[in-house]
Amino acid sequence: MNLTQRVKFFILPIIILTFATAGYLSFQVFRQHQVDYHTHFISHSLYHLHESLQIEDRSNNSQLSTLLNNNEFIRISDEVNWDYLDYSLNPAIYSMIARSVENSATQSIHITNNRGRILLAFDDNDPFSEVQLPPHTEEFVKHALQHFLLTSSFSTVSTLFRDSDGILKIVYARSFSPRLLQHDLRNKTNEYLVAIQVTNLDSFTTFQNQIRHEFGDEVTFSVQPEFFPGSSQIDQTDINVTLSQDKSLIGSMDGGAYFYSVKVPKHLVDKSTTTSFYLAFSSALVMSVVTYLFLLWVIKTQIINPILSLESNVRETTLSGNNKLILLDKNDEVSKLNNAYYHLVSNLDHLASRDVLTDLANRRQFETWLEERLKFVNTVEFKDKKPQDFALLFIDLDKFKQVNDHHGHETGDKLLQIFSKRLTDVVKTSVSSSSIEFSSIARLAGDEFSVALPKINGLDEAEHVAQQIIAMFDGGFEVGGICHDVKASIGIAMYTENMSSASHLLKCADTAMYQAKANGRNRYEVFTKALENQLKLTETIEDTLLEELLENQLELYYMPIFESRSLALVGYETLLRSPTLMAKDIGPETFIQIAESSSLIKKIDLWVIDRSLLEFTQLRDEGFGGYLSVNISSLELKNKEFAPQVALKIKQSGIEPSLIHLEITETKLAAPDADSVLILNQLRDIGIKLVLDDFGTGYTAFNQLVHYPVDCLKIDRSFVDTIEVDHHKKMVEIIITLAKLYGLRVVAEGVENEVQLTYLADQGCQFVQGNLLSHPLPLEQFRDRFIRRVNYSNG
Ligand code: C2E
Ligand code: MG
Ligand code: MG
Repeated sequence: MNLTQRVKFFILPIIILTFATAGYLSFQVFRQHQVDYHTHFISHSLYHLHESLQIEDRSNNSQLSTLLNNNEFIRISDEVNWDYLDYSLNPAIYSMIARSVENSATQSIHITNNRGRILLAFDDNDPFSEVQLPPHTEEFVKHALQHFLLTSSFSTVSTLFRDSDGILKIVYARSFSPRLLQHDLRNKTNEYLVAIQVTNLDSFTTFQNQIRHEFGDEVTFSVQPEFFPGSSQIDQTDINVTLSQDKSLIGSMDGGAYFYSVKVPKHLVDKSTTTSFYLAFSSALVMSVVTYLFLLWVIKTQIINPILSLESNVRETTLSGNNKLILLDKNDEVSKLNNAYYHLVSNLDHLASRDVLTDLANRRQFETWLEERLKFVNTVEFKDKKPQDFALLFIDLDKFKQVNDHHGHETGDKLLQIFSKRLTDVVKTSVSSSSIEFSSIARLAGDEFSVALPKINGLDEAEHVAQQIIAMFDGGFEVGGICHDVKASIGIAMYTENMSSASHLLKCADTAMYQAKANGRNRYEVFTKALENQLKLTETIEDTLLEELLENQLELYYMPIFESRSLALVGYETLLRSPTLMAKDIGPETFIQIAESSSLIKKIDLWVIDRSLLEFTQLRDEGFGGYLSVNISSLELKNKEFAPQVALKIKQSGIEPSLIHLEITETKLAAPDADSVLILNQLRDIGIKLVLDDFGTGYTAFNQLVHYPVDCLKIDRSFVDTIEVDHHKKMVEIIITLAKLYGLRVVAEGVENEVQLTYLADQGCQFVQGNLLSHPLPLEQFRDRFIRRVNYSNG
């Protein structure tokens, strides 16, 4: 999943969750707020209701008291005969009552006798309608009288009730004596009358309307009236609003004379919260989408796109100056990352192009630069500016290895650093310094350097630079107070149009440098036509060998080795042949040397060993009883893998190791160095025999022989060839004596005539090989001549 996808998949759920939680929480808060608001509203309304009730109660109560205590009422009531009272007959009382209830909520006033019979009825209804008994008349009368008896005073009892239309009313009943003026009637309760006043409770109606207006019609109200004595029953109240278990809101008011409650069902309480729920839900949804899109846009434009462009720049950036990154002057993280990459690439570029020791351009940088430069040299622009030549100097320090060996690598490194510095100075002062760039002077490897001179006037100028470099070593090269005998060999190659590439030009200069070394070192040589031909030949030989090796076209010739006196066949030496090169008269003497200058020799040696072992097995099966001698390059003594490889091959072949001799040319063997001796010992440990080939031509001091774990010396054919020459004769004698001294076998090669053979045999050289006895033969001829008619002797 890439970053964009991850952002998409992770951010969306997080945003939705965040907004949903926020929406839910705010909804809950809002809901609680709504419940609080409604609770407050109901309790506030109930409180107002209570206040209005109190006011209404007091005014109504006092209304009846005022009427009954009115002097005129007392007087008239005293005069009239209550038992036969008819309001139409006594308009005075009626009008008095009408006046007293005028502008009030009183609906009716009835006066009854102590048995509850209506003596007078007044109401605000149709005067001609039938007289309606106020509700609970009998109970009122009873309560009023009981109260009187209990308190001995005329006082009021009251209660609430709901009429058939559901309208709340308050009823007051007050006992009184109609004969108050005449005598004390305290014990004549049957003389008492009771006035019953019914009053509409408008405050309740208003309250209910208000609540319904707020919540709707489904709100229920209930009232439980009780009879209460006294006139101010609604003094105290206990108002409560609670959220019931079913989430409906219940408001209650305990007024003493009644218990009033209002119930708002849950869905009405939640009516406004439901809307807000949808509002919260849809806002959360919209906010989620908007935030998501916005975040996506921000992340894409501010993070992902810059990272992608950085990634593409980094991908396209290659070392050697092709830095696609540019420095950004912003201060954000991506710009910082970009700049960090920029510096990293620049540093890497710097490191990748330089030689760590000398700070000159390294081989990679030099070759890349040279390639580019040569492309330019081929352009019209360059050619038009003629005369301008392009020369390449290949410098190799002579005897530098000895500085390392004798004074340590630190001194060697110091010498290379000082040389690099001086080389740069010399080059810059010898030619126009503007034409010398950083990449023009390079350390290619070890003690190999190269200088490109891009704009010079002919070979003379290049030779002048070479002379100046060689002159640096006149009188020795001083490092840390010690003068070292180091010199330089220089090859000069002038660029010509037929040179195919930078590596070709380098190879030409390299060839010229080798020529300088071959010609005695401490000098320069120019790459000439002759050298060019030599180079071409080398290339042809390398190509041919590689091709024949890969296609298994190389061949082995067989050179028999005989016992010098009996001339019995004791073994043979395999000699490599390249059919293509043989046709051009190029033998192993030439091509092995060339193969040794590349890694080709390792492959060739292994191929020869393989093929030799294979054919040796076959020949032994056919009855051959001698040994096998195989030539290997002395370079294998630097190859740590060689001994294990040989051991494996011999093991796989199943051949007895002592039947196998490996010939190493003595010429190539330097003074016994520990590594070579180690590898020789490893080979010897396999059980094979080691032969020092071309013995006498090399540098082996005879007393050093003891250090070499060898079994056999092969006298070089140059000594055999000229055995008549006295000092050569002497040499042969010495070698044979030496061999005897060290208990080594001796083989003489290149025996071409009887004189040589006899002499060698007389001197005690046990084994011989040479054209006199047999030329190197192809396998079939060798078979024909030596396997089928045999005279073997185990040497
Ligand atoms: P070498 O090992 O000393 O081989 C002997 C060379 O002397 C062979 O030359 C052989 O043909 C030649 N020779 C022997 N007797 C006479 C003689 O009586 N008269 C004359 N004129 N020449 C004689 P060749 O085959 O040309 O080999 C040359 C060198 O090439 C060898 O010298 C050896 O150093 C190398 N070489 C040959 N084959 C191989 C190989 O398979 N592997 C490796 N690494 N080197 C090989
Ligand atoms: Mg040999
Ligand atoms: Mg030889």
